[in-house]
Amino acid sequence: MSDQYRCGRCWRTFDDSKLKVLPGVRCPYCGYNIIYMIRKPTVKVIKAI
Ligand SMILES: [Zn+2]
Repeated sequence: MSDQYRCGRCWRTFDDSKLKVLPGVRCPYCGYNIIYMIRKPTVKVIKAI
């Protein structure tokens, strides 16, 4: 399970592997350099009795 990233300008999401292709931390779509890391919430299975 890899981390997801979101661009601060075009708001597209991409994963870790696309981020490593480019030098530095930039959006692979528009080249913007402010990237937010999105942590996926842990899915818990709760059994209703
Ligand atoms: Zn972008």
